Amino acid sequence: MTTSDSLTAASTTARAFLTEAAELLGPRGLTADPDLLAPWLTDWRGRYTGKALAMASPGSTEELSALVRLCARHGIAIVPQGGNSGMSGGATPDDSGHALLLSLRWMNAVRHFDVEARQITCEAGFVLQTLHETAEAEGLRFPLSLGGKGSATVGGLISTNAGGTQVLRHGSMRALVLGLEAVLADGQIYSMLTPLKKDNRGFDLKQLFIGSEGTLGLVSAATLRLLPAVAERVVIWAGVPTLVDARKLLLHCEDAAGEALEGFEVLPQACLDAVLQLLPDARAPLEGRHGWHVLIEVVADRAGADTLRDRCETMMADAFEAELLEDATMSASEAQAEAMWLIRESISPAERARGPAVQHDISVPVEKMPEFVETTAPMIEAKWPGTEAVAFGHLGDGNVHYHVIAPSVTDGAAWQAREGKEISRYIHDLVTEWGGSISAEHGIGQLKRDELARLGDPVALSIMRSVKQALDPQGLLNPGKLI
Ligand SMILES: Cc1cc2nc3c(=O)[nH]c(=O)nc-3n(C[C@H](O)[C@H](O)[C@H](O)COP(=O)(O)OP(=O)(O)OC[C@H]3O[C@@H](n4cnc5c(N)ncnc54)[C@H](O)[C@@H]3O)c2cc1C
Repeated sequence: MTTSDSLTAASTTARAFLTEAAELLGPRGLTADPDLLAPWLTDWRGRYTGKALAMASPGSTEELSALVRLCARHGIAIVPQGGNSGMSGGATPDDSGHALLLSLRWMNAVRHFDVEARQITCEAGFVLQTLHETAEAEGLRFPLSLGGKGSATVGGLISTNAGGTQVLRHGSMRALVLGLEAVLADGQIYSMLTPLKKDNRGFDLKQLFIGSEGTLGLVSAATLRLLPAVAERVVIWAGVPTLVDARKLLLHCEDAAGEALEGFEVLPQACLDAVLQLLPDARAPLEGRHGWHVLIEVVADRAGADTLRDRCETMMADAFEAELLEDATMSASEAQAEAMWLIRESISPAERARGPAVQHDISVPVEKMPEFVETTAPMIEAKWPGTEAVAFGHLGDGNVHYHVIAPSVTDGAAWQAREGKEISRYIHDLVTEWGGSISAEHGIGQLKRDELARLGDPVALSIMRSVKQALDPQGLLNPGKLI
């Protein structure tokens, strides 16, 4: 089926819209060809597949604004999409085929790079890995990284308020966005790209768009905070018996390394085994097996670079002496540091390769996380015999990815369809009882929309609905997601 066949099949309103959109965007900016659309209609986890009227790829904010005005006039819903690496189905349209898939990937220019001010203004489609490389070329760095960095875009990262492995020290995306430009549901352009250190002219409106998953506006560009590149880093891999011990080790490292502690990630032995199976060339960092493995990153600027390794050695020697760990190794080179991080970043694909699982992305107060996992994992495994409850990730932020893996003998897909919802409800109830969040960093999307409505604070939900109504009265921006 070609673009013109698809146009013929569309309703009169949709046809009128597509004709005008094609005039506006030209052949490079609009396609209804099913073969070109197909890769973008299924989410990264393969959980959702939708349909779309067409895919639009505007090349500038002005073009995007004109397109949104057109959508508003014809009542066409818009599903924004960046790298499609999101974990909650937020960038996948429903199966009505009525919505326009809006790809921001072509809007990927750097508009302004002020090395001295340590700020970069880039468009929504700029890919995280390219952002890292661009900053590095000037002796700077963008202190947010995650496994999907080769696909994830600035617009997607902002819209999900992404976290990653350096939140412990630098905060999530919200802390790194200094200015923002967004196209509103009626096509107006909100433009606040020039950052001011102090600005008390009322609400900090850019915060509305951060984490709103494309439901309030379309992020078209942002000014981001950069830091000087690290002059030296040491990555440590430690083995500990329990998650409670991992938390004690975290407190020790916070005391010993202070601001230099950049990351503290945990994974159980089963996760490490899964990664080693996925990556045949990877080697286990430690010889023995341990209940839990901890990846610690400590960094230094130029002033502290010479002494970093010594400080890390003292920190780990003290940890040994205090019996806070069973074994540990320290990276001796950048290649070794990268190899340890590769293991951490391969957990998601390795877990996916292991078979069906019901996934959760939860947080509880940091100090309660070890007890939460150690209490609830046996409860889950007892309630669903044969399952394995696996937690891994950002212990230092009180956030773990909590996966319940299907019993090996069952038909995994059928099991997931049958039990998945009930397992998630059970875990989300537990998280709520423990004062936590059902979405620590992946957002709500379509995956957790019902759960947010069920468990969210009624006053908070009511405010969110009022804001949505005020900014998108026609309900055209990413319908069926978040709220
Ligand atoms: C291997 C792997 C590891 C990951 N690890 C982490 C992690 O540690 N921490 C973490 O937070 N996330 C993680 N993620 C999830 C994902 O990378 C992030 O959610 C990322 O922010 C999504 O960016 P994207 O450009 O792919 O957005 P998409 O997936 O395309 O979209 C995500 C959401 O944002 C909306 N959106 C996208 N662009 C715009 C825009 N310009 N304006 C308005 N709305 C928009 C979409 O509609 C959707 O609701 C991981 C993903 C993978 C594949």
